[in-house]
Amino acid sequence: MNDCIFCKIAARRIPSQNVYEDESAAAFKDLNPQAPVHILIVPKKHISGLDACRREDAALLGHLQLVAAKLAAENGIAGGYRLLTNNGRGAGQSVDHLHYHLLGGRPLAWPPG
Ligand code: 5GP
Ligand code: ZN
Repeated sequence: MNDCIFCKIAARRIPSQNVYEDESAAAFKDLNPQAPVHILIVPKKHISGLDACRREDAALLGHLQLVAAKLAAENGIAGGYRLLTNNGRGAGQSVDHLHYHLLGGRPLAWPPG
C-alpha cells in the first residue's frame, strides 16, 4: 500500500533500525520505545490489522509469532517478554498495518493500561 508507513519500512523505502527480514516478514525497532527492548514485527504484505486477517493468513500469523520468539531469544529476553497487537482505535492502534509489539527488558505489569 503506497501511503502506509510500515509497508514503506518493510520494503526499505524509508529508513528504520531493521533487526530482521525474510520473504514474508520484517522487524524493526519502535521509534518511541516503551521498554529496553521494543521491536515491531510486521508482515510484508499489507493487512490493516488482526480483524482483517483471514484463514489463509493463519500460517503468516504463526510465522510472525515464531519470528518474535526468535528475536526475544536474540535480544536476551527469552525468559520474560510480552507480545501484543493493538486492534482498532479502542485498543490504541495508531498504524493501520498489522504489527506485533515485542516488549521486554524491564518488569511488565499486568493488566496493561
Ligand atoms: P500501535 O499504536 O499502532 O499499536 O503501534 C504503532 C507503533 O509504531 C508505536 O509504538 C509507534 O511508536 C511506532 N511507530 C510509528 N511510526 C513509526 C515509524 O515511522 N518508525 C518506527 N520505527 N516506529 C514507528
Ligand atoms: Zn502497510
